[in-house]
Amino acid sequence: MPELPEVETIVRKLQPILTGKILESIAILHPKSFQGEPTLLSNLKILQVTRRAKIIRVQFENSLNLILHLKMTGQAIYVDQQRRLGGGHPTSDWITQLPGKHTRVILTFLDGSHLYFNDQRLFGWMKLVTDEEVEKLFSALAPDVIDDQVTPDFLANKIKNRTQAIKVLMMDTAIMSGLGNIYACDALNQARLHPERPGKSLTGAEIAVLLEASKDVLNRGVELGGTTFDGKYVDIDGLAGEYQTVARVYGRAGKACHNCGATIVKIKQGGRGTYYCPTCQV
Ligand SMILES: [Zn+2]
Repeated sequence: MPELPEVETIVRKLQPILTGKILESIAILHPKSFQGEPTLLSNLKILQVTRRAKIIRVQFENSLNLILHLKMTGQAIYVDQQRRLGGGHPTSDWITQLPGKHTRVILTFLDGSHLYFNDQRLFGWMKLVTDEEVEKLFSALAPDVIDDQVTPDFLANKIKNRTQAIKVLMMDTAIMSGLGNIYACDALNQARLHPERPGKSLTGAEIAVLLEASKDVLNRGVELGGTTFDGKYVDIDGLAGEYQTVARVYGRAGKACHNCGATIVKIKQGGRGTYYCPTCQV
């Protein structure tokens, strides 16, 4: 599943390329993947590409927007004569002819370039909405972990009475957005905190260290273009990320902890795999 760094990476790649382009048409190949009247965007110029949590916003003239959530298996891939870039869930669609069998929506621009929305499992979506509707949707989302407004006091207030495990709370999007499984595991290791500690057991100092570690791992994820675990695709320029090469504990069960050398173990929490070091995370 694409996490925040992967989505941020896609936005950083698409922003300079799509800005200023004029949309010619939208082809909807699967009705579940698109909501709205696509002809409303014909001949409109793209003003900018941004992101809030894991929702990508392509802002057009006339106060209109396309918003996109990749969910489990979505990909946004831009193709022109010279290049192919974007990202999302790693599958063979990255390298095969587009449109492919998982292509659900195709945006065609006046200059002949295309943006393909591929989605194998159809949980993702693209929606045509007004500026007002975007603002309403975005204002209902908790702030991103890497936003300045998420401070140690902010987090302490949210978790001080909570008995759930800190790992589960860190990924609770009602508290803050953007910390998926990979980065939550790694942040807890960097902060040397056990993932099963109840939220309310953390001291103010521990919360501050954990929040700093969370921002650190997410920023490193963004710098490295996110995480691509499928080895078949990691060398594809413009599509794959490299965070997996520096992951602290995620995906490293049986290997040595970078802090202390002890063996990383894997447990299940809330249906997700948690990786941690039983020696230095207490
Ligand atoms: Zn350790």
